[in-house]
Amino acid sequence: MAEKRDYYEVLGVERGASEEEIKKAYRKAAKKYHPDLNPGDKEAEKKFKEVNEAYAVLSDPEKRARYDRFGHAGVDPNSAAGAGSGFSGFDFDFGDIGDIFSSFFGGGFGSRSSNPNAPRRGSDTSATVALSFEEAAKGCKKTVDISRVENCPECGGSGARKGTTPVTCPNCNGSGHVKFTQRTPFGIMQTQRICDRCGGKGTIIEKPCHKCAGKGRVRVTKAQTVDIPAGIDDGQVIKLRGGGDEGINGGPPGDLHITVSVRPHPIFERNGYDVYCEIPITFVQACLGAEIVVPTLDGKVKFTVHEGTQPGDEFKLKGKGIQRLNGLGRGDQYVKILVEIPKNLTEKQKEILRAFDSITGDANYKKRRNFFGKIRDFLDEN
Ligand SMILES: [Zn+2]
Ligand SMILES: [Zn+2]
Repeated sequence: MAEKRDYYEVLGVERGASEEEIKKAYRKAAKKYHPDLNPGDKEAEKKFKEVNEAYAVLSDPEKRARYDRFGHAGVDPNSAAGAGSGFSGFDFDFGDIGDIFSSFFGGGFGSRSSNPNAPRRGSDTSATVALSFEEAAKGCKKTVDISRVENCPECGGSGARKGTTPVTCPNCNGSGHVKFTQRTPFGIMQTQRICDRCGGKGTIIEKPCHKCAGKGRVRVTKAQTVDIPAGIDDGQVIKLRGGGDEGINGGPPGDLHITVSVRPHPIFERNGYDVYCEIPITFVQACLGAEIVVPTLDGKVKFTVHEGTQPGDEFKLKGKGIQRLNGLGRGDQYVKILVEIPKNLTEKQKEILRAFDSITGDANYKKRRNFFGKIRDFLDEN
């Protein structure tokens, strides 16, 4: 027997090649030398065997490590290094090979293939809808452009031109499969694969439908009205069962997933089902108390801020928040008070404030008094 070639050389990869690189090189080489593509070519058959052997070793981390250390002896069951270690030499992983070849030959490796005439569920599809803050809070109806694949209305999904029907495939006589002989490193194997003429359907289309070019399926974009439930929030998904692609061979349709995007509001912010806003009042309103107008999702409401309201004081409007998605009640609205200090005062305004200041003191400024009390203590102790 001739000297074995280096496995890395066989696949044309570096010694340090990654698993992915090895797999890629193998796919390329295996496709090149596959017996089906080189009928009667003994040299190709030999190469194919060599490539498979190299891949069987290099794709298995344990075997590869042994090969790197001991060379061919490390992975040859007849050699001393391989014997007695429970190591069985190279074996052929049909699962993986079938998987790899299915991409070349349209899923043609026997039992792995699925029946193309079986009913299949349509794919799920997705869309997005942009809502205003109020639309999301209160719910609405929205028109959304939905794109989905449907069975061709012209040919009813058969793919055959109007007035014609698909005919029995002459290549497989309608069975969808053809028997073939495969040469493998273990000898000749009789197996069957999906008929490549009809793709396993057993029928072929002689005159394709104009509308779908024989595919039987067409992509359709339609404006659809969608009910947006009250309380939906940014990033949430509305699932419309059956709104996805139409099923194949009478299978059920997929679902449509509509992702909601909510635009920010100039006044309101949302957290869960609660609404937050900030309202500026004048320092005089804060001192004297006042009736102010608060915007809510239900419109304006009047609210009395009490005498001596401080900046950052917060009050709650119960039940003025957002409708819960489960329909059980609403969240609350929280209003935070901002006290604005006036600027650009006239001399007269300043005069009045100075006069005011001269008659106020510790009794009016509790926080200030406490703070300076603490400062005094601090200075006395240090
Ligand atoms: Zn059609
Ligand atoms: Zn066929």
